[in-house]
Amino acid sequence: MAIQWFPGHMHLTRKAIGERIKDIDVVIELLDARLPGSSSNPLLAELTAHKPTLKVLNKQDLADPGRTGAWLAWYNARADTSAIALDASDAAPARRLIDACRQLAPNRRGLSKPMRVLICGIPNVGKSTLINTLSRKTQAKTGDEAGITKQEQRIVLDDDFYLWDTPGMLWPRIIVPESGLRLAASGAMGRNAYEEEEVVLELLAYLKQHYAPLIDARYKLGLDAEAIAARHDEELLELIAKKRGAVMSGGRLNMQKAAEIVLTDLRGAALGRLTLETVPEFEAWLAAGQLQ
Ligand code: GDP
Repeated sequence: MAIQWFPGHMHLTRKAIGERIKDIDVVIELLDARLPGSSSNPLLAELTAHKPTLKVLNKQDLADPGRTGAWLAWYNARADTSAIALDASDAAPARRLIDACRQLAPNRRGLSKPMRVLICGIPNVGKSTLINTLSRKTQAKTGDEAGITKQEQRIVLDDDFYLWDTPGMLWPRIIVPESGLRLAASGAMGRNAYEEEEVVLELLAYLKQHYAPLIDARYKLGLDAEAIAARHDEELLELIAKKRGAVMSGGRLNMQKAAEIVLTDLRGAALGRLTLETVPEFEAWLAAGQLQ
């Protein structure tokens, strides 16, 4: 089963962004640092009229630091784009985000008009968390009595820095079925959109190649990386089910329960910090997609 995204709001989102974008100086696209390519919106550049864009790799606390560095370098190499990594609940880097936006639109410095920034992201990427963090940060910093002015979807972050929340809903870039399954594993989709066991089998297929020691450390399978990589995905899930006591009455293994355990461990970083796609993998998907 390939996970499908039904962009029911696509038309409305396109229209709403289109109406807003002419007044915007910089676009922030919030991405999941564990899947930066798949969590991006495929039409964002077009929808935002190719405005300068800051890619924010959020949830960096859950992602593999080495891979995050490679993704940042990839985005930073593009014209009119820069990238930073964040943990949306951590207030410290909020200032970096504001500074990075100002650098993307330097010609605005000294102008009397405030800087206007549009923040976008697929559901669950952490947009509300980041907006809350930024709002609190500015409130604490400026000591502004009125606090945060929230009018419609506009948030005043500094005297001359306005943040607009995107109207509508953005959808992710699912080029290959793996993208959809890994997005589901990361928690980007509602539970009704996928089968846990299928998602976890694909996840294990990836993890056993890239993060076998983390699987062994978490589930104490007593297997080295090579032995883990050689197991079938189903076999690995069975081993995890046994270790975790995911057994039904009559002794049959409860694979559904085992799948839920793995998903909870992944999402809470109990498995460790990991990233589910690399730049070369994503580039290969893009190239193949263009051939279709
Ligand atoms: P939104 O749908 O984009 O507004 O996403 P939310 O702000 O509601 O965040 C979705 C989930 O991700 C929530 O459970 C947040 O607590 C969590 N979250 C958001 N940002 C981070 C982050 O940087 N690190 C971690 N570990 N969790 C985050």
